[in-house]
Amino acid sequence: MTPLPESFVSRVLEELGPDEGAALCRALDTPSPTSVRLNPDKGAKAPSAERVPWSEWGYYLPERPLFTLDPAFHAGAYYVQEASSQFVGRLLRGEGLQGGRILDLCAAPGGKTTLYASVAGPDGCVVANEVDRRRVQVLADNVRKWGLGNVAVTTDTPDRFGALEGWFDVVAADAPCSGEGMFRKMPEAREAWSEGEVVSCAARQLDILKAAWPALKPGGLLIYSTCTFNHAEDESVAERFSEWAGEELEPVDAEPLPEEWGIVAGEAGAFSTFRFFPHRAKGEGFFAAVARKRAEGASVRPSRPAKGRRSVLQAVEKREAAELVRWCAEPDRMHFYRAGELLYGCRRGRAAEIEFLSQRLNVIYAGVAMGQLFKGVLKPDGALAFWTGLKDDVLPVAELDGEEALRYLRKADLPADRFAEGMNRVTWQGFSLGFAKRIGNRVNNLYPNSLRIQNK
Ligand code: SAM
Repeated sequence: MTPLPESFVSRVLEELGPDEGAALCRALDTPSPTSVRLNPDKGAKAPSAERVPWSEWGYYLPERPLFTLDPAFHAGAYYVQEASSQFVGRLLRGEGLQGGRILDLCAAPGGKTTLYASVAGPDGCVVANEVDRRRVQVLADNVRKWGLGNVAVTTDTPDRFGALEGWFDVVAADAPCSGEGMFRKMPEAREAWSEGEVVSCAARQLDILKAAWPALKPGGLLIYSTCTFNHAEDESVAERFSEWAGEELEPVDAEPLPEEWGIVAGEAGAFSTFRFFPHRAKGEGFFAAVARKRAEGASVRPSRPAKGRRSVLQAVEKREAAELVRWCAEPDRMHFYRAGELLYGCRRGRAAEIEFLSQRLNVIYAGVAMGQLFKGVLKPDGALAFWTGLKDDVLPVAELDGEEALRYLRKADLPADRFAEGMNRVTWQGFSLGFAKRIGNRVNNLYPNSLRIQNK
């Protein structure tokens, strides 16, 4: 194992004291716990395993399985999410966010996005932004699999969100950081780390928070998090931002946490802070801070649809809508639109928002991609299979066993007799995996290429 960087070790001994610092360094050389977070909207069965105490849907697994070989993982029934980072869900408790708007500004690969999607529920709206265009595709794939149809994936720099003044109930910045909390789970993080990186990350983190601030509505919550231990990127950023925001930022009523969870609670500027050290709490190194934008007296210029802007979402034709309706469990609650070749659906109340976002940001995915019409019949997009609003009996169901399901996920051949003639919805233990079309003795496996299991 690559040794911990020397200057990191001397700094933690100094910042935390010799005993605490040494305990942290020792813990970084022990194995990481494995944890998952269930998708409550897919009815995933809770494992008989230890709960992540601060997380509504989190569980520790006794050992790390090969997730790639579990069809439920591919169906978006759960997300493999490190336990400490699930704590951001706890910070949203009691905020009444079902149907709310949440901005996840630094979102890929989507651990927290999928959690926020569950918190906001199918009627909510999560904007998941990832500046890095290589990483945004993975984010979009995870959003499709999670299947709530309530996420808009964007790829923009944080300053672009200034155009959405007062728009969000929650703004979360899970900022890029020097990654000291990953020293255990990803030993390569030890080699990538440097003191210079700490300094440059701290400057960037403050810039990100400042850029995101206008998008938060008065009374809304600001969550800042990192997976690093140093004061410069954690408390110091929270303090400097508090100074910058002045009286517009105020503390939340932070609930006391049970001591046995091992979370170190504190304050930095107006923020309540929560530190996760692997020698104290069962999870990786993590830092979260939360504060509220003052409700009264804050000036907001409400963002209105700008006049003269081109409509990005095209209306669907009547016959297209009539076909799409057939595929929805709650068609009356749906709005359909076209973007390029593909037909999409979203909750009726959200269409204007998606239009609004599309006029200002680089939206690469929003709502649920339903597919394309050929001769009046929908050829379903892979995303539709994962969607929780899909009508169960719109197609015959081909329920596969474990081995067949893995063949399907690898896009390998499948025996035709497992399928009805024509289009099928493919499931494993009731979880939708995708579509396949049988034509006589041939089965056309329609699982998306980008999601295919490779080499296993
Ligand atoms: N929230 C994610 C999750 O839970 O799965 C992890 C996010 S990761 C800690 C930080 C992300 O910020 C990275 O995906 C990175 O590409 C992105 N990022 C890098 N530089 C950025 C910048 N200047 N502004 C915004 N995001 C940036």
